[in-house]
Amino acid sequence: QLPLRVPITLPSGVTYDQPTGLFINGEFVPSRQHKTFEVLNPSTEQEIAHVYEAREDDVDVAVAAAKAAFENKWGTADPEFRSRCLYKLADLVDKHAEVLAGIESLDNGKSLLCSRGDVDLVAKYLRSCAGWADKIFGRTIDTGSTHFSYTRREPLGVCAQIIPWNFPLLMWSWKLGPALATGNTVVLKPAEATPLSALYACQLVQEAGIPAGVVNILPGFGKLLGDRLCTHKDVKKIAFTGSTATGRHIMRSAANTIKKVTLELGGKSPNIVFGDADLDKAVRTIAFGIFYNSGEVCCAGSRVYVQDTVYEEVLEKFKNYAESLKVGDPFQEGVFQGAQTSQMQIDKILDYVQIGTGEGARVVAGGERLGDKGYFIKPTIFADVTEDMRIVKEEIFGPVVTVSKFSTVDEVIEMANDSEYGLAAGIHTKDINKAMDVSNRVKAGTVWINTYNSFHQSVPFGGFGQSGIGREMGAEALDNYTQVKAVRMAI
Ligand code: NAD
Repeated sequence: QLPLRVPITLPSGVTYDQPTGLFINGEFVPSRQHKTFEVLNPSTEQEIAHVYEAREDDVDVAVAAAKAAFENKWGTADPEFRSRCLYKLADLVDKHAEVLAGIESLDNGKSLLCSRGDVDLVAKYLRSCAGWADKIFGRTIDTGSTHFSYTRREPLGVCAQIIPWNFPLLMWSWKLGPALATGNTVVLKPAEATPLSALYACQLVQEAGIPAGVVNILPGFGKLLGDRLCTHKDVKKIAFTGSTATGRHIMRSAANTIKKVTLELGGKSPNIVFGDADLDKAVRTIAFGIFYNSGEVCCAGSRVYVQDTVYEEVLEKFKNYAESLKVGDPFQEGVFQGAQTSQMQIDKILDYVQIGTGEGARVVAGGERLGDKGYFIKPTIFADVTEDMRIVKEEIFGPVVTVSKFSTVDEVIEMANDSEYGLAAGIHTKDINKAMDVSNRVKAGTVWINTYNSFHQSVPFGGFGQSGIGREMGAEALDNYTQVKAVRMAI
């Protein structure tokens, strides 16, 4: 039988105890059927550990624990108590930051640079949610002298949260933070490729004094657990981040019980460079926009549009910059881009490189796998693309970018908006009027001007079109976890 904790030594030399069980009702437990699955290190393709695999019967137990915790404790707890617990959790994330970042790089393959950035935002976001917990306001409404009318914002109950493998710990915090601040309890399923940081962080949840049953974590596989969570009568909401295809499936399965659904899905975001931009800065920023986190970012700026007057110059600078980025062992100092997270991902990316070449696009940089162990690929730039190519239309989810040429503002707006997605867009120009005009006309949930992949805990993030429903972070995230009750009293 698999022990509930196994010692793991990180490449930095630090040894820690990795929980391997499901986290239900405040403790780590084996799955009821005692099944386990292997977690791989994408940089070496070696096994890191086995963890227990949750099945449908475990879902039922976790949902029951979350329901009891909601009804007896958390849903009616003093908001100040919830706030104190979340502040403590944020402090514990800071205290364990180096181990958490190490686990993330080991499990996901991202560079330590990325993991440290993630952990920093996790702590900031949890602290922001802690501050909101005692600031959930209703309204009084003037309805004349015969009645007194007001609204309350109440929690939903048990929320199921399903997260992907590209930002395992960051997504854990984006989901837990607003749900807990507003008095909900959760059953969260990490991605099967990257369950380790969420399990480790359960220990911090315990230490922060969050009562048993408020947070339950079920490592396991998508469809099996997802279908049970989406159809369970005691689950009131599904919050999902992942592919658009799975998002569609979730909406359909949640329909029978009319669950509230929020979805954070895919993207194919345009990043526009005008001729008057600071070109060196723009090149660094578009590179960060696509190659950060190995390109495994839902809002990656994967379609770059460059004005014809500077097209050749930008392409040359972009190629040189991409080729200067250090790719390799995520734990090595100076490495910018680590490994892709799975065999499935690297195969998908390499397929798209073939597709692009077959479509007649020109590889300007990269286009090849690196080394013979681990899922590494060089930052890849395609030029000479046309807007109907699959590499311009479809989400690749890796360090692969297309560069297109445009001449006028109207033309680039049309190209930028020609997508079923609408998660983000970037604009690079020194002309403030142009920046405002384009940001108003582009169809995207987030617009970055002279920056990209720039997040702040107080700024909402989410998609237009098929990129999703609802918002994460900012005050908007809290709306997704509360329902309005109207009260009207005769005087
Ligand atoms: P996915 O959407 O299948 O997986 C994301 C999460 O959903 C995982 O936890 C998974 O176990 C779960 N899941 C899978 N099937 C489910 C179902 N039927 N019901 C409920 N949950 C389910 O994504 P993937 O297969 O790991 O990756 C495929 C592609 O999705 C990627 O190449 C990428 O293009 C995209 N993707 C996007 C994001 C994003 O943040 N937008 C994140 C991950 C993957």
